[in-house]
Amino acid sequence: MFCKTCEYELTGTLENRCPECARPFDPGTPETYEVMPGHRRRKRQYLVATAFALLVIVMLFEGIRRYEPWLTYIAVLIGGPGLIALFLGIHLRRSTPNPLLTLLAVAPSALLLGLFYSLAVHMHQTLGGWPASIGNNGFSSSLNIHDGVTSWYFGLTLLLNLTLMPLLMLISTGLRQTRGALYYLGMNAVVFCVANGAMNLAPAPFLNWWWD
Ligand SMILES: [Zn+2]
Repeated sequence: MFCKTCEYELTGTLENRCPECARPFDPGTPETYEVMPGHRRRKRQYLVATAFALLVIVMLFEGIRRYEPWLTYIAVLIGGPGLIALFLGIHLRRSTPNPLLTLLAVAPSALLLGLFYSLAVHMHQTLGGWPASIGNNGFSSSLNIHDGVTSWYFGLTLLLNLTLMPLLMLISTGLRQTRGALYYLGMNAVVFCVANGAMNLAPAPFLNWWWD
């Protein structure tokens, strides 16, 4: 057992209160203390963050190698600040990240990938193949709606990740009380960046149509 505030080892403590910082805990309620020591927990989190960092670096160099500046811009402008926030967030956190908040940080990008790839499948089924030209020729009304929603959602998430996210990261770094949020903000940005890389793995004719 370890204190959620100061990571002090609580096993063998006579009172149900941290001797170091006085935070109360209940040995019968696991939510009131940390099971794993801080350095071990952070080691695992750094491992995950390093895997994300490698993916962002791959995106950066693939963007340069394949003359797809888009990938490079996203990796530098969203992945870069996101990784800084994520590593700093892990360093500053005293307690295990909330699984629900972590899920909320990942969810917008999962939705984006879901919309994007279901659009590819929907389009291939409606047209009986990939579109030969740009534009919405031969699209059914449901495909038009699917396309509209996906484009709108992509634009919105991109805009938020370029404007609101960096601002929130700066505020959360500056204020002591909100530093715990840095981990989730970083996670959100890094996963969005990696999701954009994953979108680029779609078949080339679909990507040509998407970007035109
Ligand atoms: Zn304590």
